[in-house]
Amino acid sequence: MARKAFVGGNWKCNGSMADIQRLTEMLNAGEYHDNVEVVVAPTMLHILPVMQALKVPVGVSAQNCYFEKSGAFTGELSTEILVDAGLKYVILGHSERRHILKETDEMIAKKTKKAIDSGLTVIFCIGELKEERETGKTEEVCFRQMEAVRAVLSEEDWKKVVVAYEPVWAIGTGLVATPEQAQETHKALRAWAAEKVSKTVAEELRIIYGGSVKGANAESLCTEDIDGFLVGGASLQPDFMNILKVTH
Ligand code: PGA
Repeated sequence: MARKAFVGGNWKCNGSMADIQRLTEMLNAGEYHDNVEVVVAPTMLHILPVMQALKVPVGVSAQNCYFEKSGAFTGELSTEILVDAGLKYVILGHSERRHILKETDEMIAKKTKKAIDSGLTVIFCIGELKEERETGKTEEVCFRQMEAVRAVLSEEDWKKVVVAYEPVWAIGTGLVATPEQAQETHKALRAWAAEKVSKTVAEELRIIYGGSVKGANAESLCTEDIDGFLVGGASLQPDFMNILKVTH
């Protein structure tokens, strides 16, 4: 089964209103094809203006959500609020939330289940730290992060998951994983899904790579088990359009 490629632009905690206008104009000038699903994730304050400005088939994602229903949770955004506003995607488990905001595997799993039950597609991020790679723990760490969500998801739920493998040492550092390094981990993740969930899920699951992806390296990273990218820094630049052009 051919998996549809997926490219996400993670704008993180960046952007002024003027930047948002520049970025949506850039996206509106692009060409889009049915074989690549394109999504951008602005800050929560910029989500609505971005949705209103986009005239092209580019989805909009939240960068986080809460695992409880709407209620007395100051500062949080429930999945009910996201869905009501027309969102279809949410990024969960990003390394900046795991390591800076100290989100646990368990908390991320609860958010993932809640988001899927609400009808959202989850861009579920995993990845190892530099010292974990250097001590041969890449698979152990990634599988542990995957297992936390596997424990709460049904087989059907996996249709609403896009896994983003993002080695933490490659995020925002310019140190992109080599195509061989990334392919090896993606292949291992697919084999894990075949064993722990099902062969069908493993074949259909989109596993995208993130970490210093640019127009200049994206094409070489389109290997057998890499189904697209989650792009940080370059998604705030015209180079994002070059990444879209070469992704297949
Ligand atoms: P980067 O970030 O492309 O700036 O390395 C990727 C990400 O954090 O999703």
